[in-house]
Amino acid sequence: MTARTKPKTLIVIFGATGDLAKRKLFPSIYHLYNKGRLSENFAVVGVARREWTDETLRDTVYQSIKGEIDPNVGDLKDFCKHFFYLPFDVTSKSSYDSLNTILNKLDNDFDIPGNRIFYMAMAPEFFGTIASNLKSEGLTNTKGWSRLVIEKPFGHDYPSANQLNEEIREAFDEDQIYRIDHYLGKEMVQNIEVIRFANAIFEPLWNNRYISNIQITSCETLGVEDRGGYYETSGALRDMVQNHMLQMVSLIAMDPPIRLTPDEIRSEKIKVLRALRPMEPIELDNYFIRGQYGPGEMNGKSVIGYREEEKVDPNSGTETFVAGKLLIDNHRWAGVPFYIRTGKRMSLKSTKIVIQFKELPMNLYFDQQQSTHPNLLIIHIQPDEGITLLLNGKKVGPTGETTPVQLDYSNNSVDSINTPEAYERLLYDCMLGDTTNFAHWDELNLSWNFIDVISNYWEKNHPGDFPNYKAGTMGPKASEELLKKDGFHWWSLFDSDEKYEV
Ligand code: NAD
Repeated sequence: MTARTKPKTLIVIFGATGDLAKRKLFPSIYHLYNKGRLSENFAVVGVARREWTDETLRDTVYQSIKGEIDPNVGDLKDFCKHFFYLPFDVTSKSSYDSLNTILNKLDNDFDIPGNRIFYMAMAPEFFGTIASNLKSEGLTNTKGWSRLVIEKPFGHDYPSANQLNEEIREAFDEDQIYRIDHYLGKEMVQNIEVIRFANAIFEPLWNNRYISNIQITSCETLGVEDRGGYYETSGALRDMVQNHMLQMVSLIAMDPPIRLTPDEIRSEKIKVLRALRPMEPIELDNYFIRGQYGPGEMNGKSVIGYREEEKVDPNSGTETFVAGKLLIDNHRWAGVPFYIRTGKRMSLKSTKIVIQFKELPMNLYFDQQQSTHPNLLIIHIQPDEGITLLLNGKKVGPTGETTPVQLDYSNNSVDSINTPEAYERLLYDCMLGDTTNFAHWDELNLSWNFIDVISNYWEKNHPGDFPNYKAGTMGPKASEELLKKDGFHWWSLFDSDEKYEV
């Protein structure tokens, strides 16, 4: 590997004692190291409020990785020696001075040419303060590059996102800002571009002449767990639709970029978001519906409803489920509905995109009183990764009957390797300076403006019927009706345990 693929980097994690650092960041850095993508010239400085020492951090890193270690590769303790800790007050200038002294020393000790990633793994209210102090106290003033990684949520609505953006833009340029959308780090989400732009059989059909509708589902079996306080201020619309779901819509719908560079891809994705038909409050109920889970059963065990969860208002109007119909007003997609749905406490954990093709203009088998199945292309994003193509074949035997034939490609079984964690990829992309799989401000600007109309309408009109779906089902009936009135239904072919009930 060259220096370009093994970047010499210093990573500063703000919020190093937190959950994200422990569960995602430390293991991701270890995997990069283990796979030889990091040279020995790297160091990580964790900062947070607690009075930890280097040893406490190293022990936490060790514990967070121990279970995943490959016994044939090096000593985990050697890896942990690259970690350092500084108790930190984000509002105190002297904290930044101390941090800079450590960073300069580590540059020297590990032969790092001033390349710095500042990873914001703490509450967003501190991002602006941290960014401006990093600049004013000279921490970004090095011979190498400085990059800022920002976790979601990026704002609560357009005005707050814009304010946050203005604060961080005072200290960092747009091309130095890496806004994490961990869906964009997923193997199959990145694979959407390859499926579309490297296969001659799909691209000619990828339009309103051949596609009847597209369905994007991201459902979880988990409830809000211990995040009730956060979720009450967010809800499924802000937590999932504004970012992950709209990112998937734009990747599926974008035109082929003229080159596979971050700028060109982004520019095509932005065109999709610009072409989204804006919602009008007066007809919003025909396009977007919301749900909240009540008590129910999961795997034979009773579970409580959302309103009974910790730190949740017993009369909460927060949605834990959203289904919507999006229309993209451009030449390619005019008339093709994009249906999206996402929710918690549903009957299965699954993220998938189903592309339903139109029927043939003259279906000879239909004329013979036989039903053929519409062709479907299914992109499985998680937990399984792969694609399924559903065709019609002839039933074996003397009959002339047709039968659906399923062609499956699964990443896990074909390559028999674990697919890399999204965070690992994104961190590596950031080290390489590749912004393709991060959200640009222009995308956030458009997506928040689209979402704000819906959230404002919902805030003004408290739902009368919550909870409206039982935990362990596929959401409220209204979600089915959203498609039914267009003559479609959610495809549930590949998840046999889906059930619909209120
Ligand atoms: P957490 O509460 O577990 O950790 C917060 C960290 O920030 C702690 O290290 C804490 O010491 C530090 N901190 C808080 N106030 C501070 C201050 N004034 N000065 C210095 N340090 C301070 O939170 P988390 O779950 O690790 O999440 C961090 C961020 O990542 C949040 O913005 C969250 O929304 C986002 N996020 C988390 C996850 C996840 O899986 N945990 C997933 C997606 C996004």
